[in-house]
Amino acid sequence: MIRAITGTKDILPNDVIKWTYLEQLVKEIFTNFNYKEIRTPIFEETQLFARGIGEETDIVGKEMYTFSDRSGTSLTLKPEMTASVVRAFIEHSLGKLQTLNKLFYISPMFRQEKPQAGRFRQFHQFGAEVLGSDSPLADAEVIIIAYRILVSLGLKDLRVKINSIGIPSARENYKTVLRNYLKDKLPDLTEESKVRFEKNILRIFDSKAENDIKIMQNAPIITDYLDEQSLSDFQVVKEALNSAGIPFEVDPSLVRGLDYYTKTTFEIVSGKVGSQSALCGGGRYDLLINELGGTDTPAVGFAAGIERILLACENENAFTQDDSSIDLYIVVIEKNLDKEAFRLSCLLRENKIITEIDYSARSVKAQMREANKFKAKFVLFIGGDEYKEGCFNIKNMETGDQKKVPINDISSICAMFNK
Ligand code: AMP
Repeated sequence: MIRAITGTKDILPNDVIKWTYLEQLVKEIFTNFNYKEIRTPIFEETQLFARGIGEETDIVGKEMYTFSDRSGTSLTLKPEMTASVVRAFIEHSLGKLQTLNKLFYISPMFRQEKPQAGRFRQFHQFGAEVLGSDSPLADAEVIIIAYRILVSLGLKDLRVKINSIGIPSARENYKTVLRNYLKDKLPDLTEESKVRFEKNILRIFDSKAENDIKIMQNAPIITDYLDEQSLSDFQVVKEALNSAGIPFEVDPSLVRGLDYYTKTTFEIVSGKVGSQSALCGGGRYDLLINELGGTDTPAVGFAAGIERILLACENENAFTQDDSSIDLYIVVIEKNLDKEAFRLSCLLRENKIITEIDYSARSVKAQMREANKFKAKFVLFIGGDEYKEGCFNIKNMETGDQKKVPINDISSICAMFNK
């Protein structure tokens, strides 16, 4: 038997109900903040991600689905959205059409990671990219949106962590301080952290090894080495979050190891999804657009993982979506009326009434069973004495009330559904 690829999963109809609910909520909240949706292709030239995410990251180094097409071009299935959005922003000169572009997306992503609960190879993210503002209020805005979406889904066990990693020159000073602190502790670090010490020292903060964590807990913190502007911007972010009533904590270990990330970083974690606890992450990337060939444009954004959020919702019993019900089920009493029933079903559907009908010439009892299974609000009987009198019999399945409606009086059926 052919099965779905490891790390991918089918989203079956009962689950799609939850996905649709989440996606609609995401769209509503972004629209409320005046964000416009952007959709980019599933694959891009590999070098976009190599440059846009960074050669030394796990994503580019180990996780990308990269392949050559028939003309020998190296392509990659998108592992994240920021680089693609920035490419589209530059390619279509969006910055010339509008000084501030507030964009959101919902899209599948692909990373060849080790599958586990909350970690897949095809997964889905929604997120935002705000291009064209260096105001820390824009940072606060994206954090507020992310938080509001999660809270609106009914999640309670959430922690918002924020930090500032300053501008690259301040970060260089800090890296020197960190290097000095770690020099004599190197033998105690894991092999991976030793490599990071040479290549990208900030990423040692991401180590999950117990001893590394202990060592890093006593390390000097980046907040003490920030430049003036980053410090005052960070203050504005904190004040804005306070005024919006968003609870947060400052976590100095929340660093991003790449030079085009600047100032604010943030993450929202759930206490209800096990080890893969980050529901969303983001921050400011003032230098990325220039790095990818565009004119200097300050920007900030975030990405949130839908599978993980739905897992948190399930574990918190956050929201329950009713199975969708139908408006009306047509029960055919006399088999020779099936074409008449079909014609009626088409007419009702044209009038936006969600209608179902039996195509298997089943007994009335079996059709009623089916109507119950679909949670039909009404059942319309076609046939019997009423039909001979020129009427349909319609039963309200909740109250049991029945009423007769003349065969040609479609408008009074529509009125029952306010349509
Ligand atoms: P990142 O793009 O790595 O900053 O991730 C942003 C969010 O996407 C994370 O907080 C997760 O919720 C989600 N995410 C990242 N990688 C995966 C994955 N392999 N499977 C499922 N969700 C993921």
